[in-house]
Amino acid sequence: MRYVDSMLDLIGNTPLVRLNSVTQGLQATVLAKVEYLNPGGSVKDRIAVRMIDAAEASGQLQPGGVIVEPTSGNTGVGLAMVAQQRGYRCIFVCPDKVSTDKINVLRAYGADVVVCPTAVDPAHPDSYYNVSDRLVRETPGAWKPDQYSNPHNPESHYVATGPEIWEQTEGRVTAFVAGVGTGGTISGTGRFLKEVSGGAVRVIGADPEGSVYSGGSGRPYLVEGVGEDFWPTAYDRTVADEIIAVSDRDSFLMTRRLAREEGLLVGGSCGMAVVAALRAAEGLGPDDVVVVLLPDSGRGYLSKIFNDEWMADHGFLEAAPGEAKVADVL
Ligand code: PMP
Repeated sequence: MRYVDSMLDLIGNTPLVRLNSVTQGLQATVLAKVEYLNPGGSVKDRIAVRMIDAAEASGQLQPGGVIVEPTSGNTGVGLAMVAQQRGYRCIFVCPDKVSTDKINVLRAYGADVVVCPTAVDPAHPDSYYNVSDRLVRETPGAWKPDQYSNPHNPESHYVATGPEIWEQTEGRVTAFVAGVGTGGTISGTGRFLKEVSGGAVRVIGADPEGSVYSGGSGRPYLVEGVGEDFWPTAYDRTVADEIIAVSDRDSFLMTRRLAREEGLLVGGSCGMAVVAALRAAEGLGPDDVVVVLLPDSGRGYLSKIFNDEWMADHGFLEAAPGEAKVADVL
C-alpha cells in the first residue's frame, strides 16, 4: 500500500514547473517552485512544522500547550494544521480588516481567532499588539512562534527548500528569485544555494514598491504577504545580491496571466516574484536556469485580483469591469 502517515508528511518536496508563455522572448529557462501544493496550501507549512518541532525539542512547547501568534494568513494555516495533528490549541489574533474567509479557514482547523479593532491606537489595550502580548502572558502553556524573529523560519528553507532546488535542477540553477516578507524564504534558501554553488547562484529579492527592502518607508501597497515597514531579524541582509521593486499593477496583471497562460492559479506575491524573475532573466543566456518561488494559491484572492471590478476600481484594468462583449468570447 502506498500512503503517508499524516498530512505533515506531505510538507515540502514541491515540484518545479517550467514557465512557457510569460517567458516568451527570453533565452533562460525559468522554473516555478509551486508551493501551493503543500498540504496547507502555502510555503508557510514548511516553517510551521519546523518552528513547532524546535519548540517541542527545547521545551518551550509542552503537551497541552497553546500556540499564540498574531497572524491571519498562510502562517496561521500552517500552524493550525500542525497544531491540530500534534494536539495543541491555537489562538490567532487578527485585525478586523481581515476577510471572514481567512478567519473561517483558521477556525475550520479548530483554531480560536480573536479579532481586534484596527481603528484604535497601538497603545490601546484592545490593539492587535496588546491583545496578542496579553494572551501570551496570561494563557498557561502559551508559546509565540514569532515568525519575524524565529531562526527556524529561515532555517527551514536552508535545510529543505534550498537543497530541493539544488537537487531538482541537478546543480544547474544560476539564479533564485523570491518575494520578501519576513525574509525567511530568501535568507534560508539563498544562503544554502550560495554556499553549495560556491557563490555562483545569484539571489534576487522581489519587493512591493514602497516597502523597506527596496528602499521605501513602508508606504501602503496591496500585494499581500510581502514587503515590510521594519527590518525583521529573520531577514539576512547579506544574502540577496539585488532587490527588484514591483508595482501592485504589474504584480496583479502577471498573477492573472499566470492563471490564463500557464494554468497556475496563484497569489499576488507570486505574480510579483515572476515579474522580478523575468526582469532578472532578460540579460541571461540559454544555459541559465532561474528558479522563482511561488508561495501560495490564487484561491484566497478570487474577490480581489481575479475580480474585474476590484481590479478596475483600483485602476489596474483598462477595460470596463466584467463586461466581456459577445465578440470577445466567441
Ligand atoms: N507571499 C506570501 C503570500 C506570504 O504569505 C509570504 C509570507 N509572509 C511571503 C510571500 C514571503 O515569504 P517570507 O516571509 O519567507 O519572506
